[in-house]
Amino acid sequence: MPSEFEQSTPGLATRCIHAGTHLDPGTGGACSPIFTSTAFAFPNATNENIYPRYFNVPNQKVINRKLAALEGGEDALTFASGMAAISTLLFAYLKPGDHAVFQGDLYGGTRHLIAQELVPLGIGVSFGRNIAEFAAALRPNTRLVYVESPSNPLLRCVDLAAVAALGRARGILTVIDNTFATPINQNPLALGIDAVVHSATKYLNGHSDLNAGIVVASGAIIHRVAACALNHGGMLDSHACYQLERGLKTLALRMAAHNHNAAGLARFLQTHPAVARVNYPGLAAHPDHAIAARQMRGFGGMISFELLDPSRVDGLLGQLRLILPALSLGGIESLICIPSRTSHLRMSSLERQEAGISDSLVRLSVGIEDIEDLQSDLEQALR
Ligand SMILES: *Cc1c(COP(=O)(O)O)cnc(C)c1O
Repeated sequence: MPSEFEQSTPGLATRCIHAGTHLDPGTGGACSPIFTSTAFAFPNATNENIYPRYFNVPNQKVINRKLAALEGGEDALTFASGMAAISTLLFAYLKPGDHAVFQGDLYGGTRHLIAQELVPLGIGVSFGRNIAEFAAALRPNTRLVYVESPSNPLLRCVDLAAVAALGRARGILTVIDNTFATPINQNPLALGIDAVVHSATKYLNGHSDLNAGIVVASGAIIHRVAACALNHGGMLDSHACYQLERGLKTLALRMAAHNHNAAGLARFLQTHPAVARVNYPGLAAHPDHAIAARQMRGFGGMISFELLDPSRVDGLLGQLRLILPALSLGGIESLICIPSRTSHLRMSSLERQEAGISDSLVRLSVGIEDIEDLQSDLEQALR
């Protein structure tokens, strides 16, 4: 990458396409070649011991550079899944006897990691819903504050600048799972957050055909995470890196369509007589709309809503012809699911009730189909 390019900070769509590309001077090809070797000469031109599990093959570095450019971070590290990125970051920073503060409504996999891996190791954990509760939960041995904004499935948003200030004042690492927003809609590092994690399985790859994860942060943080990562071994192989690079090139274009379609469907659902309540941070009625409007450029492609009559939830999912009842999210195709039976199934019904996740809550990952088709599919299924 020519250095003038890095210095002139091009727009997000340009960065999606060009940042980090491994240009091959031998052929002048426009795309990064796929490096399949696991055996590399040493010493080589860079005097670096290159090996996929050292997270340093060229195709991994392409993704690292592209995500660092998109999130405005110094460096990044690419993993085989979102959970590999999240668990490696947490293991790099938390040791037995340490304490961490987490947002209450987290991705289910992250909740299980905390309960099944961190707690048994003797790592103390506390949960909070907002900045006042995070501050109240801090202890002398707190090492890390971890948030998700917007969150799954209620799309709650936390004030990221306030979280960053809280951590900075006490030398505590602040981390956000930025999967729902993507770097197109939200750049937490610019608000002072120390580290960003992504499930690249979702919007970053965008085509529901790949598992991957990313951490973006300062060079020093990435250095520490990388030292832990080669012990845990959760790296992404070069073919998958290439596929992810290809998906990332259209991220800005896709997010604009996700933002547009979700905003339109949220407005449609809000006025529909069969719908009791719509959760979308772009709606003025959302409890965190003001926070979201301050820190996001777009409100994303995720919506959740409740039906007035909970007994009609199965009917709704059964009647849809275009929108697919399926798990996961963030792909080009619209997907719908019932969190109480899927992502939040392993919570007790009391825990779900406390978290505000009712049995009639429906989560919609709005794809980039024509919005007229999505709206008429919902319209006929709600009838
Ligand atoms: C899917 C998801 C993850 C986990 O990612 P995987 O790629 O499935 O490991 C983490 N956080 C959020 C918000 C997610 O949606």
